[in-house]
Amino acid sequence: MRCENPVMNQILDAYRPMWSLKHAISLMGWDFETYMPREGTEERGVADSQLHMLHKDLLLNKDFIGLVESAKKLENLSDLENGIVRVLDREITKQIKIPKVLTEAESLERIRGNMAWREARKKSAFKMYEPHLKKMVDIKKQIAEKIGYEKHPYDALLDTFEEELTVDDLDRVFGALTPRIQNILKKLVDSGSPFCKESKLGKSRYDIQKVDELNHDILTLMQYDMKRFRMDVSTHPFTETMGLNDVRITTRYEGTDFKKSIFSTIHEAGHALYNLQCDQSLSVTPLEGGSSLALHESQSRFWENIVGRSLPFVQLIAPLIRKQVSFANQATADELYLYFNNVKADYIRVDADEVTYNLHIAIRYEIEKKIFGDELSVSEIPEFWNDRMEQLLGVRPTKDSQGVLQDTHWSSGLFGYFPTYTLGNLVSAIIASKMRKDLEGYEENIKKGNFKPIRKWLRSKIHQHGSVYAPKVLLNNTFNEGYNPDYFVTYIETKYLGF
Ligand code: MG
Repeated sequence: MRCENPVMNQILDAYRPMWSLKHAISLMGWDFETYMPREGTEERGVADSQLHMLHKDLLLNKDFIGLVESAKKLENLSDLENGIVRVLDREITKQIKIPKVLTEAESLERIRGNMAWREARKKSAFKMYEPHLKKMVDIKKQIAEKIGYEKHPYDALLDTFEEELTVDDLDRVFGALTPRIQNILKKLVDSGSPFCKESKLGKSRYDIQKVDELNHDILTLMQYDMKRFRMDVSTHPFTETMGLNDVRITTRYEGTDFKKSIFSTIHEAGHALYNLQCDQSLSVTPLEGGSSLALHESQSRFWENIVGRSLPFVQLIAPLIRKQVSFANQATADELYLYFNNVKADYIRVDADEVTYNLHIAIRYEIEKKIFGDELSVSEIPEFWNDRMEQLLGVRPTKDSQGVLQDTHWSSGLFGYFPTYTLGNLVSAIIASKMRKDLEGYEENIKKGNFKPIRKWLRSKIHQHGSVYAPKVLLNNTFNEGYNPDYFVTYIETKYLGF
């Protein structure tokens, strides 16, 4: 890409080696999770941290910072040029504000804490992990102070994951969302809804090779271009982007409950499409990623839940399922639909359905907010967690592995990350509502396997822009909306109470 302004071109030239390091780091990350021999871990750790340091050196190089600073003073920059300056300035500012001792303390504690968490989860003993969590919270509190904030220390951490996100935003979101979802859940349970009846289809063992073929069949049906994309296997599915023309996903095969494998595939493919449909002119620039974590999650959730778990889509893929999953060879589309959309108030977030999922996030949000607002101590978390589970979902964990120890995020220092999952869900519903108004024959097209209009719409409204616009700006410009929960609540009500 070339810009009008010579300073911008100097920035882009200087950015190329940084991009290349990120490219290599991503590829190594993908390899680590998929095919790397186990004994390679330590050497990979060295290479990875060295490349990160090189990247940081380039980013914080005086001349480079000088270029970005002079670009900030330029007037009449295009949206694109402004985007480049905004993204780089954010990265530089955060790196400068956090002193090296804190970065090092965090990365050390991330490894130690994560190992302690794994052990503690196995034994379901929070006490084993508690000192590490205390340490990490302490480090994160110091980091929040260094980054700075206007109202709430937690704002500083939220902003690192979702630009400009604040406690005020999230109080509004969860304040409106939580009671309404609780109400819908109660209605479903009390009425003995067919969605609440557990399906037998999740119980039998499946042939992994056949479900792998099924996943590839679905990707073909969804028109993924295998010349720029691939799928492999890992325990925890993820998407890794080397560049706009090499985007890779993984999926999982646990042997039972085949919906988990299918919907992991569709979820990650949704993330991948965001990058695959970014405008090619943004390649090898700071703008080639998505706008934010929440916007990225809105894409994966849109395909996974709103399209993937819809009746027309289930009708479309039912013949493929009957062919590849032997015990489902007689299953009707309605049976598959109910299996895919089973609702159950349960302990574990990653297994939660569309209705209950955000209640799990609400609990994590409340805890993080209280921790960083000094309203809750680390040792008080397990009981608070269990109380809130009981109040919101009606189930009380009887052991720590069902409660406070279930997620890896805190042990890796990811405070402020969870809320982006809920925002992604909310935005996916906004997108679906606007899209249905724009696209005639939306459902019939899904049923026929014609995804072109949907892909084109997503490309023009969101994907092509990469990270040119901050998430709040993009939502406002494109949809005249913010993180508004109304669309999501209406979507859930219509789908689950209207069936
Ligand atoms: Mg995701």
